[in-house]
Amino acid sequence: MRNPVSTSGVPTNTVTIVQYGTRQGHKSEVYLNWGIYGRPDEPIGMDYFVWLVETPTGTILVDTGFSREGGANRSRTFLAHPVKALAALGVDAATVPEVLVTHAHYDHIGNLDAFPTARVTISAAERDFWSSGMERRAQFHHSVEDAELETLRRIEAEGRLRTFDDELEIAPGVRMVRVGGHTPGQSIVLVDTAEGTVALASDAIHYYEEHDDDVPFAYVADLPAMYAGFDLLHAMVTDGRVQHLVSGHDPSTLDRFGRIADGPLPGLTARIG
Ligand SMILES: [Zn+2]
Repeated sequence: MRNPVSTSGVPTNTVTIVQYGTRQGHKSEVYLNWGIYGRPDEPIGMDYFVWLVETPTGTILVDTGFSREGGANRSRTFLAHPVKALAALGVDAATVPEVLVTHAHYDHIGNLDAFPTARVTISAAERDFWSSGMERRAQFHHSVEDAELETLRRIEAEGRLRTFDDELEIAPGVRMVRVGGHTPGQSIVLVDTAEGTVALASDAIHYYEEHDDDVPFAYVADLPAMYAGFDLLHAMVTDGRVQHLVSGHDPSTLDRFGRIADGPLPGLTARIG
């Protein structure tokens, strides 16, 4: 991976959005109680991403995508296995030092065992919830793989798991903030770059429509917290704390930030910073 240097020559952070999967669905499946809005049901795609943050002090990976098993169990389509996608970008999973986990759903923590030396950071609320017994209830269990939650516990037993309550500075200009809602410890990652601050919303905002039209996602642990997450991100964009809002799953995401057609993973990446 290139050494991130801004046009002024000062080392800075960059964000690469990497798409690794996709699926098709309908709005009535992805939005909570879609029928109450009186709007037509329509097909809607869902794309799957991991986010690579290159900093002057090292590589930070935000989420690890779904695994072969986790994807197959839900008939999701791989465009590139996340670990192979990273390799194509010059990042060796075996030596990635820092992995941030925005939440523990199957499409965000699959493949964690491919990062054997990484320190893994997750909010304490998220870590606690998925060992509370609640993870066995059908509405929550649907979104996780038992083996992957076990991997998270093993990483903790190995002393490689770091937790935080509300907010944590990961590196200069890189912060993780818990917002809750979608899951109890759902977090966003804020990255200062030469092009402004990027909010990697992950599943605090799956779709831009969620944020723009105030329509919550179908899978939600705490609805008021999900709405509060929308409000927080709205405020950050409006008052200039955030210049680039990156959704967790919206198919328009790469085009918004400039899909890179050539080089490795043609058409599957975009870069900010
Ligand atoms: Zn997700």
